[in-house]
Amino acid sequence: MTDCLFCKMASGEIKPNIVFENDDVLAFRDINPQAPTHVLIIPKKHIASINDIHSDDETLVGKLYAAAKAIAKQEGFAGDGYRVVMNCGEDAGQTVFHIHLHLLGGRKLTWPPG
Ligand code: 5GP
Ligand code: ZN
Repeated sequence: MTDCLFCKMASGEIKPNIVFENDDVLAFRDINPQAPTHVLIIPKKHIASINDIHSDDETLVGKLYAAAKAIAKQEGFAGDGYRVVMNCGEDAGQTVFHIHLHLLGGRKLTWPPG
């Protein structure tokens, strides 16, 4: 997708503050952090939303969670706890239509979210 912000990050055209990368996944710090650590974890492949995840993407989506686990350990809050969330569509406030897990940690998080 040439017009997708997160595809541009995956291709290196735009350089975010990267915290984790492998062949399939890129993770970088959110530009507007909502917690001491707020990282976005994306597949390098463009998938617009949860509604566009197909059965052959399921392993890839699992790798986003594997990255979250690794980054939580790297950031030092794996034991204290953290939140991983993916917004889908307008009502959930999705603004970038390339799936991304938000990884939030480093403070006590309230529930439910707004
Ligand atoms: P959403 O609302 O789609 O679930 O989350 C989009 C996230 O992308 C927001 O938390 C927003 O702060 C972040 N974001 C938007 N533009 C940029 C950018 O250019 N760089 C980075 N690092 N994060 C961005
Ligand atoms: Zn994309």
